[in-house]
Amino acid sequence: MSQFWSPIVQTLTPYVPGEQPKLPGLIKLNTNENPYPPSPTVMSALHAVTAETLRLYPDPDSSALKQTLADYHQVATNEIFIGNGSDEVLAFVFMALLKHQAPLLFPDITYSFYPVYCKLFGIDYQEIPLDEQMGIKLADYHDQSCGGIIFPNPNAPTGIALPLAAIEELLIKQPNVVIAIDEAYVDFGGETALPLIHKYPNLLVIRTFSKSRSLAGLRVGFAMGHPKLIEALERVKNSFNSYPLDRMALTGAVASYGDEVYFQQTRKAIIDSREHMTQELEKLGFSVLPSTANFIFARHASLPASQLAAGLRERAIIVRHFNHPRINQYLRISIGNPDECKALIQTMRLLTSEH
Ligand code: PMP
Repeated sequence: MSQFWSPIVQTLTPYVPGEQPKLPGLIKLNTNENPYPPSPTVMSALHAVTAETLRLYPDPDSSALKQTLADYHQVATNEIFIGNGSDEVLAFVFMALLKHQAPLLFPDITYSFYPVYCKLFGIDYQEIPLDEQMGIKLADYHDQSCGGIIFPNPNAPTGIALPLAAIEELLIKQPNVVIAIDEAYVDFGGETALPLIHKYPNLLVIRTFSKSRSLAGLRVGFAMGHPKLIEALERVKNSFNSYPLDRMALTGAVASYGDEVYFQQTRKAIIDSREHMTQELEKLGFSVLPSTANFIFARHASLPASQLAAGLRERAIIVRHFNHPRINQYLRISIGNPDECKALIQTMRLLTSEH
């Protein structure tokens, strides 16, 4: 029956989301969720949502959330765009700002949704190889004839961050195309490019509530940049889905910015666990890329990553293994809470001493 499909759908290879296991009791270190629950402030705000308000459509402009974000991030409300998770924000960015005649540039090892959006929206793209150390080399992105540039900072799945100075150098070299920086993981130690949005009108910074704010289940993401970039995103949004954020998501997202202490505590706990996990895995013969994210990317000196992933799974721990030739020796391990990290390390000790 696929003759009924649009031609473009017939050729699509969709993004495969990380596994969300149906079995309870697994230690889930595979999709970079936050191991800590959302702040109690968020939970009370969600409980206070009334039936009467759910009868009504939500605010199509997400005004209360825009104001909260504007105050916190020191930007104007017309410099903010809000969407249903940063995946949806990214979809709007690809549609509204990154589709041009010339190819879009992004790293060959990066968030694997980018090529999927390109195929869906008919965007020509060029994948730029990472350097020997698995870092993004921005000097390779100076081609003035490209149609735009997008990369995560820190990159995923490597966890490696670029310094702000390198990003500013790129912005100076590339004033005529949109540079979109996906900062999904920036709160775990990276340097944000946000201060540069007032200096470079072609810079867009994209954030999510899914990682550092423990709200992957609510689906909230946002972008910040020059009002003209935001206007393009709003145009597409209002031609597609005027209400991307439901009332629960809006309420929870606003409330999460009301508990700064909790945000800082959980952020720090994850960074501390990451440093501890890195040291312990290094003792077991792993090399771990320098991460500023809530996950690490590690390879063992002799044991295949697929074997380790299978061994972990047999012992009820799931991590992410990618079937891409350049990175199939690596495991991406999300940072869990201290008990989960301990279980991971103990199981790795067992698996690495067995051979
Ligand atoms: N960007 C990157 C680099 C990611 O790893 C993810 C999470 N898979 C996202 C964006 C999307 O996050 P969300 O849609 O949950 O905001």
